[in-house]
Amino acid sequence: MDHDPHLLVEGMIISSYAIGATKSYIYIRGEFVYGARRLEEAIQEAYSKGFLGKNIMGSGFDHDMYVHRGFGAYICGEETALLESIEGYRAQPRKKPPFPALAGLYGKPTVINNVETLSCIPAIIEKGPAWFSKMGPEKSPGPKIFGVSGHVKKPGLYELPMGTTARDLIYNHCGGMLFDNRPLKAFIPGGVSAPMLLPQDLDTPLDFDSLAAKGTMLGSGAVIVMDTSTCMVKTSYIVNRFFSHESCGKCTPCRDGTPWLTRVLKRIEHGDGRPGDVELLEGLCANIFGRTFCPLGDGAVMALRGALKHFKAEFQYHIDHKKCMVS
Ligand code: SF4
Repeated sequence: MDHDPHLLVEGMIISSYAIGATKSYIYIRGEFVYGARRLEEAIQEAYSKGFLGKNIMGSGFDHDMYVHRGFGAYICGEETALLESIEGYRAQPRKKPPFPALAGLYGKPTVINNVETLSCIPAIIEKGPAWFSKMGPEKSPGPKIFGVSGHVKKPGLYELPMGTTARDLIYNHCGGMLFDNRPLKAFIPGGVSAPMLLPQDLDTPLDFDSLAAKGTMLGSGAVIVMDTSTCMVKTSYIVNRFFSHESCGKCTPCRDGTPWLTRVLKRIEHGDGRPGDVELLEGLCANIFGRTFCPLGDGAVMALRGALKHFKAEFQYHIDHKKCMVS
């Protein structure tokens, strides 16, 4: 969106033509002022060239495109909450069915896709589906943008074939671990709700099926790399505090459960953990998971369960010794 906004605009025009949509919206976080301005300029350029508006290129097809700046809530990544936000309501997920394809924005049939998907369309049209399918695994071909952060020498955005292994991404593209004396402890493959993986999982291809087989997910493709100096209690506390803050408040297990998890994690992290707190966390997870209105609550639980699965001893050490075993 910042550097080649026409890629997205063109992908949206082609997709809209394919489904007969006469209006499209780009929903962007309000903080991304630069990206929003670039998109608005690109849309105006497209209008001036006759790629948007009435009777596009003499095809008889009309299409208008708008940029909608939101207020940056994480829940707006849930498609029906995004629709509510565009309509001017509080961003909370809608009951489904009806699904957006039947009744979406302003009650009209609506297709919702992410920027990455739509930006692939012009290249597929130009070079053909066979070319596209050659990249990555058969079931989920194409490129993927991995956003790598954490303890690597070169964090950043990397566009690579889907199915690139975590080892290749971290050690070849990102220059390896930040400090040579601190090896990899764990990595999160797809944003903070994706359960973490361990060094023995480094050769797992980063694609939908391979990660699902490992009990985690590709999610947003945001890879977080953690070395041996990372405290998993502190990490879990920070991650859960985020989910608790971003809970939209619509359903009780998430609205009340995520702050409860955060309170327990905070006291463990600060040396005030009580005997039975690990079991309390596990019980809370069981009462949240599968009982929430949208996947945000499940995401919070999956992240914590991933940490407890591999590093329960760290949580217990914090409780028993009132201090951290790694820092
Ligand atoms: S799970 Fe959380 S974010 Fe989703 S509807 Fe319930 S309260 Fe809102």
